[in-house]
Amino acid sequence: MKLHEYQSKQIFSKFGVTIPKGRVAATASEAKQIAEELGSRVVIKSQVLVGGRGKAGGIRLAKSPKEAEDLATQILAMEIKNLPVRKVLVDEAANIDKEIYIAITNDRAESKPVMMASSEGGIDIEEIAHRSPEKIIKVHIDPLLGLRNYQARDIAASIDLPREYWRAFGGIAHGLWEAYIQCDATLAEINPLVITSDKRLIALDGKMVLDDNALFRHPDLAEMRDLDVEDPSEIEARKYGLSYIKLDGEIGCMVNGAGLAMATMDIIKLYGGQPANFLDVGGGASAEKVAAALRIILTDPNVKAVLFNIFGGITRGDEVARGILSALAEVKPRIPMVARIVGTNAEEGRRLLNDAHMITASTLVDAAQKAVNAAKGGSDEHPGQ
Ligand code: GDP
Ligand code: MN
Repeated sequence: MKLHEYQSKQIFSKFGVTIPKGRVAATASEAKQIAEELGSRVVIKSQVLVGGRGKAGGIRLAKSPKEAEDLATQILAMEIKNLPVRKVLVDEAANIDKEIYIAITNDRAESKPVMMASSEGGIDIEEIAHRSPEKIIKVHIDPLLGLRNYQARDIAASIDLPREYWRAFGGIAHGLWEAYIQCDATLAEINPLVITSDKRLIALDGKMVLDDNALFRHPDLAEMRDLDVEDPSEIEARKYGLSYIKLDGEIGCMVNGAGLAMATMDIIKLYGGQPANFLDVGGGASAEKVAAALRIILTDPNVKAVLFNIFGGITRGDEVARGILSALAEVKPRIPMVARIVGTNAEEGRRLLNDAHMITASTLVDAAQKAVNAAKGGSDEHPGQ
């Protein structure tokens, strides 16, 4: 889950990172009022969950509250990379002498968090990472020991930070580390961290990505979710406890078990189809859950066939079949449905589905081929078995 700049900076600030004075506004008149309160030049910053806002014209400096109001009006009417701007952050403007980059993320290859920093921070950091990767220095952090003081000093020295800023930089590096680890983040980034003309070190921009799987222990952070950026079907799926990821293919997949869902997608591809989604209905899926899942799959207009791949263990095959049938009765799909059920009471389950004119299969290969064929408008829509 991505956090907005203003949310990320508030979190950083709780961990001792200096941020500019400012507040978020949803209207231009609020933005004007905040600018009046700050009583200085301000920067009006679009709050959208994409990078490159500056280059897109979503970050503007205002000399007066009136100008802040005008720019906020403009920015609040913008869409940046297809995302509507619903809020602007109004921050005291900084006089920038230097822009630094600092971030922490997971290095999966090393199985450790890694702190990255560069003296060439700012809006071109991606280009620098691409063209001169040696300008981005990396230091791995032992997750048990945390960021050590000497590591922060090494980083400061490696990016040629003048000595007078080392102490402040150490504080910010530690704050960023604590924010990262305590919020279960997968990314915590400050770009740019600036040296101001009055010789202070301030986090001008902030970005955090949180691990969705850890959100259950951070209800306060989970509330910060911005539903604008999420696919509506993924929001609906979360309500029913379904793991659903929308994809671009034409074969809807309903599977119990994440590993089985991955295998199902692989085999669909192997036989020339494209999965329309990843979906794990979980163990012991009730008819209600199956119906919700089916509704969600069918809201995708690209879906030309649905493949059910159910491994009956604790849940018996005939029960699953009844769940599917009651879901079909409720949702009334008009596209072919292919079901592969194996495990306890699978024969009984298949018989029920056959009687209801579903395409059934006893192996995954058979099911995948039938689904791919059905999605292409193939003839064996009601073959019986
Ligand atoms: P991003 O483009 O989405 O990464 O947004 P940032 O918040 O990083 O802003 C982009 C650029 O705008 C920064 O790298 C700065 O150069 C500039 N900028 C942002 N805030 C200020 C400010 O308060 N004063 C000045 N002079 N420039 C700013
Ligand atoms: Mn930035």
